[in-house]
Amino acid sequence: MMLEAVELTKHFKQTKAVDRVNLYLEQGEIVGLLGPNGAGKSTTISMISTLIPPTSGDVRFHNESIIKEPAKLRNVLGIVPQEIALYSDLSAKENLRFFGRIHRLSGAELNKKVDEVLALIGLTDRQNDLVKHFSGGMKRRLNIGAALLHEPKLLIMDEPTVGIDPQSRNYILETVKRLNQEKQMTVLYTSHYMEEVEFLCDRIYIMDKGCIIAVSYTH
Ligand code: ADP
Ligand code: MG
Repeated sequence: MMLEAVELTKHFKQTKAVDRVNLYLEQGEIVGLLGPNGAGKSTTISMISTLIPPTSGDVRFHNESIIKEPAKLRNVLGIVPQEIALYSDLSAKENLRFFGRIHRLSGAELNKKVDEVLALIGLTDRQNDLVKHFSGGMKRRLNIGAALLHEPKLLIMDEPTVGIDPQSRNYILETVKRLNQEKQMTVLYTSHYMEEVEFLCDRIYIMDKGCIIAVSYTH
């Protein structure tokens, strides 16, 4: 088992944002986390990504607690946050170069990765345009690209298609499928759109009010 959440729980004062969540991902799977706004998806993802500590419970990566050993997971993790995190006064290419350097890429390797990712997200011919002139869908694609430069083994995506045009949305869904099939990337995909997770996922966890209320096997 690649990743496992065990009785994962997060309380914010009175709010039980995440309440004893159990889920797992096998290597090579696309797993969906489906639920309405406020269900606890982002909080679950934040704990799995080691961004916030759980109130109780644990997350295990290859059977080791990430609370004790966060670095092993962080090194192979790509996170696409719900909020777009880009520099609007930089070009697409400059943004990717910046995120690549954060992942300690440089020189010819950085150039190669940036070119590869630009092609993958379909922005090669817009690479020198400033992000502030991009559509919502293009920004989303670039946000995803920023998480792919270091070729993560596990990609965690937090509602990556919210508020964009259908064409960009389809492009993103197809890109996730390709990453999974061609690069064997394992994906945890969060959404409130049933049809997206049905299209993408091997298994879907349905979440509401902090709890997993159902698990559905699609393929
Ligand atoms: P989702 O991503 O499914 O929309 P969230 O994980 O963002 O849900 O939120 C789950 C619940 O936890 C909501 O009631 C939200 O208001 C609350 N919550 C999330 N983050 C915080 C925080 N930092 N402080 C207090 N409450 C929070
Ligand atoms: Mg959220």
